[in-house]
Amino acid sequence: MAVDRSTPPSEWPGLETSGLAKLTDDIYFGWLDHETNPLFWHWCAALENVPAEHKVHDGCWVAAGTSAHQMVSRSPLHLEPSLLWQCCGTHGFVRNGEWIPA
Ligand SMILES: [Zn+2]
Repeated sequence: MAVDRSTPPSEWPGLETSGLAKLTDDIYFGWLDHETNPLFWHWCAALENVPAEHKVHDGCWVAAGTSAHQMVSRSPLHLEPSLLWQCCGTHGFVRNGEWIPA
């Protein structure tokens, strides 16, 4: 079954993010009310072969906070050090509001 991957599920309870911004087709970030640093969404390639009944949500969006990162600039977004998601090995920097693969 095809899943709409055009929009991250930014309205999951407890993870409602505002100001959703797109970095790549697979990576977005937004802002939680109670967090200084942004919340990231990525379309996780590691989930693409997992049957729907084994997943909590449709699709492959995975949320990840960045509270351990230093936010050098909020706008344009600049975080240090690089972001690494162990689930699929996606790794990159966010500098000057852009995703830079590492
Ligand atoms: Zn992943």
